[in-house]
Amino acid sequence: MRFLSLLFSVAVLFPLSANALETSYEALLRQITPEQKEAVAALPAPAKAVAVLPDLKTLDASARYWVTVRASDSRSRTALLEDGLDIIDIGKDTVSGFAVSDTVKALSEKGLVLSFRGIDEAEGRDFPASDAAYHNYAETTAVLKELAAQNSDIASVFSIGKTVEGRDIWCLRINSTAKGTAKSSKPGAFYLGNHHAREHLSNEVPLFFAAWLMENRNKPEVKKYIDTLDIYILPMLNPDGVEYDIAGGRYHMYRKNMSKNSDGSFGTDLNRNYDFLWCKYGSSHTPRYDTFCGKSAFSEPESQAIRKFFADRPNIKTHISYHTYGKLILYPYGGTYDEVPSEKDRKAFAKMGDDMARMTGYTSEKSSDLYVASGDSCDWAYKEHGVLAFTFELDGHNFYPSAGEIDAVVSKNIKAAMYLLGKTANPYN
Ligand SMILES: [Zn+2]
Repeated sequence: MRFLSLLFSVAVLFPLSANALETSYEALLRQITPEQKEAVAALPAPAKAVAVLPDLKTLDASARYWVTVRASDSRSRTALLEDGLDIIDIGKDTVSGFAVSDTVKALSEKGLVLSFRGIDEAEGRDFPASDAAYHNYAETTAVLKELAAQNSDIASVFSIGKTVEGRDIWCLRINSTAKGTAKSSKPGAFYLGNHHAREHLSNEVPLFFAAWLMENRNKPEVKKYIDTLDIYILPMLNPDGVEYDIAGGRYHMYRKNMSKNSDGSFGTDLNRNYDFLWCKYGSSHTPRYDTFCGKSAFSEPESQAIRKFFADRPNIKTHISYHTYGKLILYPYGGTYDEVPSEKDRKAFAKMGDDMARMTGYTSEKSSDLYVASGDSCDWAYKEHGVLAFTFELDGHNFYPSAGEIDAVVSKNIKAAMYLLGKTANPYN
């Protein structure tokens, strides 16, 4: 965080020399210093949960827990989501993830819990000397606006709507013939990050991709897409949640948006709030749970903004929604075990998923093979608008991206993102 503001103050002092390159892809990478990389490399991997169960009575109602439970198939994992567990690590016979205390109790009563422990500040701590490694809302906004300003012939920034707390949700558009919200008949590709607050790397990947495209805009392999496609990059859908997650000098392990719930808790899981089999599987009607689906489908301003965004742009053909973490590329359906009915689309999903898996080293599969979770953005975008939509679960071993990881994760994901551009004009080719 500090680096950008430092760079901006340098730009004020030396307006002629410093402004041109500071948001370029290379400049963003240069902001990650060797000291930061080392500081991050020194961070321990998440500790193993203790083998002996702590007393359930000691659970703190306001705390979050890391829980390991018994589960060996998609159906049992789906049931865990419905009890509010945010599944992170999937093993052969166990699953680990985050939960509020009531979820820990519910799972314990079913005899499923193997271990759990509180998430404390030691784990959710700030990276030593590395707080510049990712971009908060103000910095993300500044980078997007700067990229548009420096490439104003082909790039523009507009807000697709406002969050619960009134923040603009900014989107960068790259199109050689249309600006802002003007209509375009060119085939569209849409890259979206940070549905979930604590998944900060899911903001960095699309943000770096935007910078990379602008830096390489004159290379023939990039220029051909800029000239012929309508490209949208929206790195941070849930800035309220992001800002809360990093507020107060400690991380909050927060997932949802910031709407106030009837029981006094906060937040709807935005990626369970879309209107396809809404709240039927793998999500919960219990407001305080991490997988709360909301009062109704599209109850949240952030998901409403995405609904309108797609409705206004029938030219969008391809889509990636970034999340962390799991090294997965998931395609519809996620909300039902059913296959998508169109054989043509089924083949396209599998082919494109496999191709992008080769570029990233991720595993590609139908989303419900993992577990069933209905109401997510990709199922809805495909079902409602026929968009070939993929969920990426990026690399990582915690939600707070190491500077060293950003570099590697970004560069392989640029390959996959470029591949998607190559498929946008004719995904079935
Ligand atoms: Zn997520």
